[in-house]
Amino acid sequence: MNELREKYNQISTYLPKERKVAIFGCGKLGEELYPVLIRYALFGGFIDNDKSKQDSGNLGEKVYSLEDFLAKENRSYIVITATKDNTKTIGKQLEINGLKAEQDYTDWEHFLKVILPLISYFRSEKIFVNLAQICVTERCTLRCEACAHACNKVSRDAQDMSFESVKKSADSFFKNVDIVKEFVLIGGEPFLYKDLDKAVEYIGENYREKIIMFSITTNGTITPDDTLIALIKKYDVTVRISDYSYTLPNLKKSYERLLEKLQGVKTVLLDTSKNQWFDYGFFEVDNGEDEERLKRIFKTCNTPCREIRENKYYYCVMARSVSENSGKDVGLDEYLDMDAVKDKKDVLVFELGLVENGYLSMCRYCRGAEAEKFLIPAAIQQKR
Ligand code: SF4
Ligand code: SF4
Repeated sequence: MNELREKYNQISTYLPKERKVAIFGCGKLGEELYPVLIRYALFGGFIDNDKSKQDSGNLGEKVYSLEDFLAKENRSYIVITATKDNTKTIGKQLEINGLKAEQDYTDWEHFLKVILPLISYFRSEKIFVNLAQICVTERCTLRCEACAHACNKVSRDAQDMSFESVKKSADSFFKNVDIVKEFVLIGGEPFLYKDLDKAVEYIGENYREKIIMFSITTNGTITPDDTLIALIKKYDVTVRISDYSYTLPNLKKSYERLLEKLQGVKTVLLDTSKNQWFDYGFFEVDNGEDEERLKRIFKTCNTPCREIRENKYYYCVMARSVSENSGKDVGLDEYLDMDAVKDKKDVLVFELGLVENGYLSMCRYCRGAEAEKFLIPAAIQQKR
């Protein structure tokens, strides 16, 4: 814990309590960060190089050019919200203008995964989590060859999580977490889950205040009924639709039907137009047993995707689901027991990746960050 306190103290040297945070980039990532900063009373403006955005503003807020921003007194700390390549370009632009990485700016991932959890805990004793999910079902209407949760290995009549388990998962999670940027109901295909309406209602009724974005991620093959849609609207749930129409053109009609039905609901069509997924290689990679190597793989991977499953809080949803769904049965006992947490700081420690051993057993069978170099076509279906 001393290590984390030191880290926080170091952050406070360049981001003291009174300094605000500006978002560089008015795209999707910037818009998702905005309500988080508002919640923490940290928002210090938007910056964008696009003149049209400077003219129109964003989300009702002023958008500065970098030049105007730099001319301000009491400059905010900058968080770049852009793709990796654009982040590098913006970083160079900031350096040319005399700003320094870490001291004056960082990228959105580092801010959400490290800086904000530390600030949240040490300034207000609140646990902030970037992203957590409940896999309500592992069954799916598709059978993608490279499913990162290995749902292609789950039988179509497998048992889903009971509604009691979903409730228990939410209760255990929110007992220890004060604010989550995104809380996702996911699968498999979550619209197959018969109690999804009850799950949305229970979480919406009991924990909506703690969730900045409450979402459902679907492959868009099923159109939910009116009862569920009414609850989705009532609890302001965002429906993220993975667009696989490049590989599966027939799905276009399903998306149209779904979007038509979801009028009035916040929807995000997740663009897979590049038609590529990262291949984590869970069934072909073996990194061996060298602990230093496995620690390196875990650390550089830095996955954001936590999973809560009853009292079990898993650091990596892929590790748990691939291991369980494929019958590998590796590392299923590596979780934080949310019911046994006596001090919230244990959740912070876990959140920052300080897991026992310094890696997960499934990292042995995974490419981690290297997966981005192994691209495969998205949503290719298994031959029956
Ligand atoms: S649609 Fe998603 S959950 Fe279903 S098999 Fe494909 S990748 Fe897996
Ligand atoms: S390297 Fe480990 S933590 Fe990262 S995705 Fe793979 S199994 Fe999960």
